[in-house]
Amino acid sequence: MSAELPVPEPSAVSAPFWDATRRHELTMQRCESCSRLVWYPRFVCPHCGGLSLRWEKLSGGGVVYAVSVHHRAALPALADKVPYSVVLVDLDEGVRLMSSVFGPPPAVGERVGLAWVPLDDGRNLAVFERQR
Ligand SMILES: [Zn+2]
Repeated sequence: MSAELPVPEPSAVSAPFWDATRRHELTMQRCESCSRLVWYPRFVCPHCGGLSLRWEKLSGGGVVYAVSVHHRAALPALADKVPYSVVLVDLDEGVRLMSSVFGPPPAVGERVGLAWVPLDDGRNLAVFERQR
């Protein structure tokens, strides 16, 4: 399914994030001025305007905040994945992230963990899976 998935090309600011997915690592920037996590990748901290943002590896664990179950694929590449869920996950580190869960839909409040969908160029797409 990876062939037609539209995935952003890495930009100067997001390249470290995408490089880390090659190692199956979910990373996010942390501001060295206010210590808050910054998502999505940026040059300037949206919380305090700080310019020093350092990349940090996250646990990949979290709790589902919201679920939208899709019974019709939004993209041809997802045709064999229905039903799938678009989810908002509150990561253990305190950041809310939009992603997907393939397979049976998770419930709001359910714990999920990181999983990876390989892309054709060696990068991986971060998705989540229900904890068994
Ligand atoms: Zn800051």
